Amino acid sequence: MKLSKRIMKIGPSPTLGITARAKKMQAEGIDVVGFGAGEPDFDTPVNIKDAAKKAIDSGFTKYTPTSGTQELKAAICEKLKQDNSLDYSPDQILVSCGAKHSIFNTVMALCEEGDEVVIPSPFWVSYPEMVNLSGAKPVIIKTTQDSNLKITPDQLKKAITPKTKLFIMNSPSNPTGMVYSRKELESIAEILVENKVCCISDEIYEKIIYDGEHASIASLSPEMKELTIVVNGLSKSYSMTGWRIGYAAGPKEVMGAMSNLQDHSTSNPTSISQKAAHEALRGPQDEMKRMVEAFRERRNYMVQRLNSIEGVECLLPEGAFYTFPNISAMIDKKYDGKLIKDSFSLTEILLAEAKVAVIPGAVFGDDNHIRLSYATSMENIKKGLDRIEEFAGKIS
Ligand code: PMP
Ligand code: GLU
Repeated sequence: MKLSKRIMKIGPSPTLGITARAKKMQAEGIDVVGFGAGEPDFDTPVNIKDAAKKAIDSGFTKYTPTSGTQELKAAICEKLKQDNSLDYSPDQILVSCGAKHSIFNTVMALCEEGDEVVIPSPFWVSYPEMVNLSGAKPVIIKTTQDSNLKITPDQLKKAITPKTKLFIMNSPSNPTGMVYSRKELESIAEILVENKVCCISDEIYEKIIYDGEHASIASLSPEMKELTIVVNGLSKSYSMTGWRIGYAAGPKEVMGAMSNLQDHSTSNPTSISQKAAHEALRGPQDEMKRMVEAFRERRNYMVQRLNSIEGVECLLPEGAFYTFPNISAMIDKKYDGKLIKDSFSLTEILLAEAKVAVIPGAVFGDDNHIRLSYATSMENIKKGLDRIEEFAGKIS
């Protein structure tokens, strides 16, 4: 069958792909250390699982309103008020099947052919692909180590043209782990407001933060709030990747349009997961805090080990659960006669020879780096880093 031109513009998700490949190798009995998955290794907290069991037993297993239950939307409004000083009414909230779905709905509702969407690089892999699907054009801003892989106001100003419709902000960032300070966000917001550019603020890693504090760009001024769709979800903070609950908050007419799209595509997110999400937001938060502390310990260990390896240089991430070391010193060198041409070939050789799965920086728009997720046990982290160290020692 002939595929549509629209679908031919996109490929599979490389982050999901590499993770699946490492899991397949493990299932075949190969001892692979997986640093690919952007998925917490912890179990979903018991109180959340219990809420889902209760939902099933009480027959809460039917369609809900497309945009989510009133109960969950009210809890999301309360969360946005309490954590982010943002006032929204429930009709400004759309609950979807994961934050990925929320971002997809937003891009589809706002962007079309002729529009440009500004995306800082390194970026999360799905942003440019969603923009491609919408018919709009991704405009990538390359960042450097000097600005801690964050964009500068000057770069943003230069990237904006009369065609710019949307800017995609992600702090804490996947893949870099960097967090934009309130001051940095203020200068970005000023430019967006001046040019009337809409903004998706992907705040999915909000709770996973070690240094500094999270600020939502939408909270900086009423004008910025009017231009912003805040996206968040439960996958990362509550270890609920499989439950598929994310949400968006923003101007009523945009949320209405996104809800129409959801009406004709997926309808409501799973009723049972919505009950679980309600418990996650309203119930005790200690498990989440415990997970963040475990991530902090792993981050410190991983960064220190990476920086002690010849040819590797790693900034200290302030949030999320990824390190993004610079491996440019390894490019154009050889491992056992095999040429390391770029971040792709490095990750291929590393997987084949050292049995460690990492993600090539090129898929995030930056070929000088690789991404390692530390959402895995300390034991795995130690084993994987021992292997990378030995591997690096044989590069010449
Ligand atoms: N945004 C970013 C930056 C992510 O890393 C992820 C992880 N998959 C998502 C959004 C989507 O998460 P989910 O769909 O599981 O809520
Ligand atoms: N966001 C995670 C990652 O970057 C999960 C995979 C995906 O959805 O792309 O690894």
